[in-house]
Amino acid sequence: MADVMPAVFFGHGNPMNAIQSNAFTEGWKRFGQSIPPPTAILAISAHWYGPDLAVSGSVSPETIHDFYGFPGELFEVTWPAPGSPELAERVRNLLLPVDLRFDAQRGLDHGVWAVLCHLYPKADIPVVQLSIDSRKAPEFHYEIGRLLQPLRDEGVLIVGSGNIVHNLRAYDWENENTSPFDWAVRFESVIRNFMLEGKDREVADYSSLGDDARLSVPSPDHFLPLLYVLGLRREYEQVSFPVEGIVGGALSMLSVKVG
Ligand code: ZN
Repeated sequence: MADVMPAVFFGHGNPMNAIQSNAFTEGWKRFGQSIPPPTAILAISAHWYGPDLAVSGSVSPETIHDFYGFPGELFEVTWPAPGSPELAERVRNLLLPVDLRFDAQRGLDHGVWAVLCHLYPKADIPVVQLSIDSRKAPEFHYEIGRLLQPLRDEGVLIVGSGNIVHNLRAYDWENENTSPFDWAVRFESVIRNFMLEGKDREVADYSSLGDDARLSVPSPDHFLPLLYVLGLRREYEQVSFPVEGIVGGALSMLSVKVG
């Protein structure tokens, strides 16, 4: 039997990571070198979060620069990985009878390309994106991950991209290396332990963690991609954390590898 492809959640952080080299981008690169080359990539990013479930079906998805206030050179970056309507169709079949919109226009957002450009600088692996349906409860997102499990046997790398702690109001824009807030450290640590103990249900129920959760996850978009990746985990598999760190006091860069 061919190797089962791992699945991974990346804390993507600042879009500037796309053009920088730092401990996080080096960790991403090492991760890419540590796994077999995927046949294709399915990405679930915090930055495609909207009121339906959709899959990108473009043959050549554009690089979306979905941010503002950053240096011009970041807007020049393109990462022209091909799309894969075949994989989009496979995803649709796996998710049946869930209704999935086929979006032939959608490009790749920075939650995807700003990380994957470090793993695959040649942009030669097809990438498809799946949206996060904002109308749904956490359990739905976890369940979609479970339904996508067969892709791991087909050489597809499934990537969730967000941040387990993501509070840009509390973020220290003057000093990225400032000490992390206590609530950020506590929340990340609790979620990390839940994952190590296989307590997926507790991770999905993160909002019951009180003020720490309200501060760490002020809106669900950056947290939910993690649930897809946990849904892809098979019972015998471990989780590990190939990249970690909290920047600006309030942004967790923790990466989670399953398998
Ligand atoms: Zn983001």
